[in-house]
Amino acid sequence: MDKSKFLRVFTDCYLVEGDNGYVIYDLTRRKLISISKITYNVLKEIDGKSIDFIISKFGDDIIKIIDYFLTEEICFLTDNPANFPKISEDVYFENECYSAILEIGSSTQYDYVKIINELNQLGCQMLMLSIKSDSDLTSEEILNIFNATTDSFFKCIDVVVPSCFENIFSMDFFNQNVRVTSVTYLGSEQLKTEENKNFVQINRIKDEELNWTEKFVRSNLTFTLKSFMESKKYNIALNRKICIDEFGFIRNYINHEQHFGNLSDTDVSISKVLRSPEFQKKWGISNDLVENCKSCKFRYCCFSNSDLHYSNDKWYKVNSCHKLDPTKENEN
Ligand code: SF4
Repeated sequence: MDKSKFLRVFTDCYLVEGDNGYVIYDLTRRKLISISKITYNVLKEIDGKSIDFIISKFGDDIIKIIDYFLTEEICFLTDNPANFPKISEDVYFENECYSAILEIGSSTQYDYVKIINELNQLGCQMLMLSIKSDSDLTSEEILNIFNATTDSFFKCIDVVVPSCFENIFSMDFFNQNVRVTSVTYLGSEQLKTEENKNFVQINRIKDEELNWTEKFVRSNLTFTLKSFMESKKYNIALNRKICIDEFGFIRNYINHEQHFGNLSDTDVSISKVLRSPEFQKKWGISNDLVENCKSCKFRYCCFSNSDLHYSNDKWYKVNSCHKLDPTKENEN
């Protein structure tokens, strides 16, 4: 190893500490790598230093650790460490709305096709359409909903329907509705998840209704470079999301208690609600501002939709996750 070279941690690898452990967010490979406290401190200390300096400080044994991180492409050697500035943490949003949930049940009175068109105008990218088991929709009415999405800007549509509608979702349907990324059948005989030939995830669950209570599992933690930067300033689960329950109430998330009006009121529209400061208030409450979460190593990849409450000048999440179980992870 050339001792005159300098060592740098790749600028897309973020070291994050929490009271439940230490991780590297590898933003390009979208990998979360668990590390020990010692490794975290060493990486912080040696970033930008010459190999000569590092060996004089830590001794020859440090070479093995450096070799490991060079092989894993967490670090690299350079003659000019200052040539690699930090990645900009600025985030820009092209659209007013990014995701929406529409719930349709036996009590639904609102015009969901009109709402889909309005969401499209707001630039909504992700739509979850949840049709409850007690809904009296016909197959034709369900197909009409998808017709409204054909020329839309939606990038992905997740569908939840009673299993009696399984016949609608033929290969022809998926060929025509390429934005549909998953279909969950309620009241199925067996619990099963598979991918069909169109790469659509097909979930079969035995429950007759969706349970909106969050399950905190490691596989729900995910990130991209953009979501990581967004998570530093925003609540990545609630930011630019709008949800309408089967009764027409508009909420930040479908199971939150607080609502912001009902679509049966002629004065209420989703655009008006989405643009109101009251509705947007929780968008800016990043995990760094929430008690418990602010010291969690997953705070930049956690898409918890939990409601937030403010008490004694502090923000708290309503649903507790117990910070997952760090003992089940491997550490370097
Ligand atoms: S809810 Fe908060 S404490 Fe729990 S995993 Fe997410 S960021 Fe961590």
